[in-house]
This record gives sequence, structure tokens and C-alpha cells, in this order.
Amino acid sequence: LSDRLTTVFSSLRSKGRLSEADINATAREIRVALLEADVALPVVKDFIAHVKERATGAEVSQALNPAQQVVKIVNEELIQILGGETRHIRFAKTAPTVIMLAGLQGAGKTTLAGKLARWLKQEGHTPLLVAADLQRPNAVQQLQVVGERAGVPVFAPEPGSGVGDPVNVARDSIDEARRALHDVVIIDTAGRLGIDAEMMQQAIDIRDAVRPDEVLFVVDAMVGQDAVNTAQAFMDGVGFDGVVLTKLDGDARGGAALSVRHITGRPIMFASTGEKLEDFNVFHPDRMAGRILDMGDILTLIEQAEQAFDAQQAEKMTTKFVSGEDFTLEDFLEQMMMIRKLGPIGNLLGMMPGMGQVRDQVKQIDDKDLDRVAAIIRSMTPDERSNPKIINGSRRARIARGSGVQVGEVSALVTRFFEAQKMVRAMAGGMGLPGSPARRN
Ligand code: GDP
Ligand code: MG
Repeated sequence: LSDRLTTVFSSLRSKGRLSEADINATAREIRVALLEADVALPVVKDFIAHVKERATGAEVSQALNPAQQVVKIVNEELIQILGGETRHIRFAKTAPTVIMLAGLQGAGKTTLAGKLARWLKQEGHTPLLVAADLQRPNAVQQLQVVGERAGVPVFAPEPGSGVGDPVNVARDSIDEARRALHDVVIIDTAGRLGIDAEMMQQAIDIRDAVRPDEVLFVVDAMVGQDAVNTAQAFMDGVGFDGVVLTKLDGDARGGAALSVRHITGRPIMFASTGEKLEDFNVFHPDRMAGRILDMGDILTLIEQAEQAFDAQQAEKMTTKFVSGEDFTLEDFLEQMMMIRKLGPIGNLLGMMPGMGQVRDQVKQIDDKDLDRVAAIIRSMTPDERSNPKIINGSRRARIARGSGVQVGEVSALVTRFFEAQKMVRAMAGGMGLPGSPARRN
């Protein structure tokens, strides 16, 4: 998904304002991208409709170019569809709070039970794990191992008592929790490889016996389209209050998250990201959206850009580029200062209109070296700054003395500047303005 979207966005990067044709073309691409990521069709349709509506609206941002604006909209809509805010566990007014896990075999329920127990314990609770999966040989033992790692006791049928009844075990565990003052009970249940009536009935029976405060549907994020059918079956069967996505450490494309949430209307509450007990997080819709977009820090950069970017400064720069006026050392310095204002140099290059063109030169300048560069440029005469060609050997020596650097540094800066200038000129004279900001009419 991410590759595809990246292509979509970079093709927009070279455009001016968002035209309707642009929006339609982009919408088509995003549609394909989402479908490829196994997002269910109705979800995709809704999503596209929202993005289109918003992109067509007059949201003109001076600080963002069209591509950035679309990224921003897509991101916001993704967060929306993923549930907006994080939903936390609703604890019962009278202890114990009963949490029941449901899902297919192999989804990661037992592992999740341990993670949840460990996490709750860290939060100051006194959880009890309950082995109500008596289907699979070793299932009880697996939970016991997990419980031991989490440092949380496990309630299970007596060894040697024969195959217990999972409904009874679950019911008894509530009494045990009251007796031993456990404030949360986590019930691990059996799953099947596919959905079947018997398994669903057992889950319903356990549910009716313990009346859980939260039924959590545990689903493997790698299963893609299948997640929708499974989620629907559990919704119609036992029903659930929240979703846990597991195996997000794999190359899950995020489609499951989007679909399950949209189809069932139930929030995704936790994310499981590995086999170890600490590979567990409260689910954050915004982070998942970021993962789906897979643009790393771009989204953060956009926020920073919006805050720090001086739109007028950009306007001035852009005009300068468009008219093909000479790019001077002062412009060079100004750009570098803008980059610094925004944050670590490496991350932010290319964010600013026209800035990408000097990126290769500026990239070589460390943040801490920026002050030296500034000092060098400030030690030049106005003539030298606007016409650096005149900077000969003796001028270099004078500038170096004035700014307290080696002559070599002055030479390196001038060289770097000439390369940047060449690119800026080529751009202004040639193919127009890649990455120019959206300008008001
Ligand atoms: P259950 O049948 O639903 O109880 O699933 P299990 O908890 O037994 O998990 C099935 C397998 O998936 C086990 O090998 C787990 O170690 C593994 N597993 C569970 N959660 C995760 C996860 O978030 N990431 C990875 N990589 N593996 C997981
Ligand atoms: Mg299990």
C-alpha cells in the first residue's frame, strides 16, 4: 500500500493547485491502493468519498503544497475511519472486571491474554488468567507458561480431573477472583481454524455464564480480506465490544484494521506486535494511519511545517524562482535558516517549496555547522553575497579570518552554493516549479 501511495503522492508533487481532474485521478489511485491492501470495498468507497469531498473543498493551505495537502487529508480520514480516539477498557463498577477473548485458533488469544495480564499488572491491577480453552491439548499449559512469564496466576481445571467444561471453569473463576481479590479476570477461550457453530456456541455459553464487561475479538492482522468475514461471524455470534489486532509486526498491510473497524463499528483497542509479552500496545488510530501511509515522519513534518513555516517568506522565494532572478548567497542562508527553524536538517529537506533543489548541498551541512556557515556568509560584503564570483583567494582569506574558520571551509561553502545556484537556475528556466506552494487566487 505504502509504495503505491508514495507514487501517487509524488506524482502530485509536481502540480500546482489541486484540480478536479487531479483529485479524481488521485482518488482512483488511492482506491486501487486500498483494495490492494485488502481493505473491503464498502470501506474503500466511503473512504474515497470523504477524501474527495474534503479535497474538493476550499482548504487552501499556504504552507503545504498540493501533495502535502492530500497526504494530510488522507491521513485525517484514515484516523477517523480507524476510530479517532483510543478507547480504553471499561472497568466494572464492582470488581472483578471480566474480559473475555474470542477469535479463531492461532489468532493470538493466549499470547494476548498474557500481554494484557502483564500490562494490567503494571497498571496496578491484580489480574487472574483463566484457561477456558480445553479443546486443544497443551492449551492450558501454554497459558500457564504465559502466566508465569507475566507473573500472573492462572485459574485452570485441576490436573487429572479429566477434560473440564470450559463454561464451568469460566464461571468458577469469577468466584475465585472474588475470593482472592483479583480485580480483573481475563478468560482465554478456544478457537477453531474456521468458524463453526459448536465453537461459537461455546463462546456464547461462556459469555452468558460470566457476563463479561468486555468481549475482545482477537484477529490476526495478516489475514486481510478474510478478517471481514471472520469479524462479521463473531459479531453475529458471540458479539464483541472491542478488537485486538495481532501480528502487526509482520508485513500486515493494515487493510484488516480499516475493514474490521468500519464493518463492525467496534473500536480497535490493542495491538500485538510480536511473540514476547512486552510486544503490546494500546491501539492508537493516528499511529496506525501513519503505518498505513508508511510515510514515517512525513505527517509530523507536515504539522511542523504548518507551525513554523512563514508563508510570506515562501511566497517571496517562489516569486524569485519563477522570475529566474539570481539565487544569491543570502537566499541560500535564508533557506538554511528556515530549515533549521523546522527541525533536524535531514528530515525536513524537500518540505519547503523550492527547497528540494538545494537539498544535496545543504544535506552535507550539519545542524551544528550551520552557525559557522551563517558566520561565513555574514562576514562577506553585500557585493560578495550577491555576486559570489568575485570571491577570490584574498577575499576568501579575509572572510575566513572574519568568521574564525579555515579558508577551506569558505571555499567549500562557495562551491556548494554554486551547485545549488545552478540547479535553481535550471529549474526556474526550465520545467516550472516542482514543489511550489499552493497559492491563493
Ligand atoms: P491462539 O490460538 O489464539 O491462542 O493463538 P496463540 O496465542 O497461541 O498464538 C498463535 C501463534 O502466534 C503463536 O506462535 C504466537 O507466538 C504467535 N503470535 C501471537 N501474537 C503474535 C504477534 O503479535 N506477533 C507475532 N509475530 N506472533 C504472534
Ligand atoms: Mg490459545
